[in-house]
Amino acid sequence: MITASDAAAAPFREAVVDLDAVRENLRTLAAAVAPARTMAVVKANAYGHGAVPVARAALSAGVEWLGVADIAEALALRDAGIDAPLLSWLHDPGTDFGPAIARDIDLGVSSREQLEAIAAAAASVGAVARVHLKLDTGLSRSGVEPEHWPATVARAAELEATGRIHVRGLFSHLANTSPDEDAAQIAAFELGVVQAETAGLRAEVRHLASTAGALRLPAARFDLVRIGIGAYGVPPFGDGTTAEDLGLRPAMTLRGRVAAVRRIGPGTGVSYGHTWRADRPTSLALVPLGYADGIPRQASGRGEVWIRGAKRPVVGRIAMDQFVVDVGDDPVETGDEVVLFGDPQTGAPSADDWGDAADTIGYEIVTRIGARVPRRYLGGA
Ligand SMILES: *Cc1c(COP(=O)(O)O)cnc(C)c1O
Repeated sequence: MITASDAAAAPFREAVVDLDAVRENLRTLAAAVAPARTMAVVKANAYGHGAVPVARAALSAGVEWLGVADIAEALALRDAGIDAPLLSWLHDPGTDFGPAIARDIDLGVSSREQLEAIAAAAASVGAVARVHLKLDTGLSRSGVEPEHWPATVARAAELEATGRIHVRGLFSHLANTSPDEDAAQIAAFELGVVQAETAGLRAEVRHLASTAGALRLPAARFDLVRIGIGAYGVPPFGDGTTAEDLGLRPAMTLRGRVAAVRRIGPGTGVSYGHTWRADRPTSLALVPLGYADGIPRQASGRGEVWIRGAKRPVVGRIAMDQFVVDVGDDPVETGDEVVLFGDPQTGAPSADDWGDAADTIGYEIVTRIGARVPRRYLGGA
């Protein structure tokens, strides 16, 4: 929760990340999915929140697993001294898997080629590679296609017998389409698990669900759920379900200080192209964040911010560094705090509201907050 004393100290622009909210969200979600275990997904700099502080907060909340897309992200966590079980699942063709294997990073395997490359790298570093074999159950992005799965699990069993690899997990990813299609993906995954067992594999963890499936599809929970967006208190569904409905609290508050205020008369055009003109005397406040900071230009004329206890509409185009809001006749002053998004319980818009204003999703809003915006952490790590 952002307090009045924080507000007094508001800098020009900042993203405040409440690590207590991350911990509470993960505890809430872990309790909802138990006895399944939880992986906190901290790819893409923890969806813009900061990978290392969020990973530490997740582990301190009792989460056992961490997940990232790229090996570079996984190595950065290891470099920060984080030694928890850690899975990386999106690999550059031609990757040398040796460094990841040497640093105890579990590797998602989406093809026979990756399996062979990982086994070869394990031999060269003299270690056993821990892998999670991924089956494509219908998302059609990555993962072993069902027709190649029996041969792939058979080959994995052979490599396991040689001591090069250990198949620790079997996984897939849902398309979150319709109940029928989700059920078909669950069935396809269950078949893949049986085929792997038939080949002699005994994986510790079977995992399919991300936040949406973890919350709404108990049959998709298996042994482990991969929680990304829910940890950050942003709803996964895009159907109007709020964080509060899910018992979650947004972790990121994006805010700054009003950089300028001016009074304008009727007919005055605002920002590039004058896409908005005042139809009455009014006051404008300048907000010092723009699309360089991840504020979508698409939300020009549609987004809202919170200043002095009210939502204020964006007028005219959002520019690279700044945009303008209409504050009417209210006594807004230069230096006032402006909250672009945060916890809607405080009255401020949510990241999802900005997603709606820009025809996108809350995921994209928080993840794209730019490098120019300093992160400040509440709640310790
Ligand atoms: C990003 C990702 C997740 C997390 O998804 P959320 O919807 O953010 O919970 C889980 N699994 C995989 C494979 C992912 O790429």
